[in-house]
Amino acid sequence: MSCLFCKIIRREIPATLVAEDAHCLAFRDINPQAPTHVLVIPKEHVASLNQVTDPLLVGRVLLFARDVAAAEGVAEGGYRVVMNTNADAGQTVFHLHAHVLGGRVTGWPPG
Ligand code: 5GP
Ligand code: ZN
Repeated sequence: MSCLFCKIIRREIPATLVAEDAHCLAFRDINPQAPTHVLVIPKEHVASLNQVTDPLLVGRVLLFARDVAAAEGVAEGGYRVVMNTNADAGQTVFHLHAHVLGGRVTGWPPG
């Protein structure tokens, strides 16, 4: 699989890892948009939310994102979990991922 995030899972491309379990991997975004900007991905390749069939997969990603936020110390202050899906939302890597953004106030509505 030539997917960038699958290569990070296989350690073929370096990344700053934050957490890992049997199903998910979390690592720092290479171009952070907030003091905490971590990407949480399922180890199983799924291109985007549009292709998900297993509710457990997204449930695991979401709760892993919650745990990362707690470990990063932003759970109390607040954080945002974002899944960009396809072109209009600006998805650039087609392996499902949740952005965990915290450590600053994020605006609403998002851009
Ligand atoms: P998207 O735009 O698809 O929602 O998010 C993709 C994210 O992956 C972007 O925030 C981008 O900065 C990040 N990214 C792209 N390439 C790499 C990489 O090689 N390593 C890491 N750690 N993050 C990456
Ligand atoms: Zn992949």
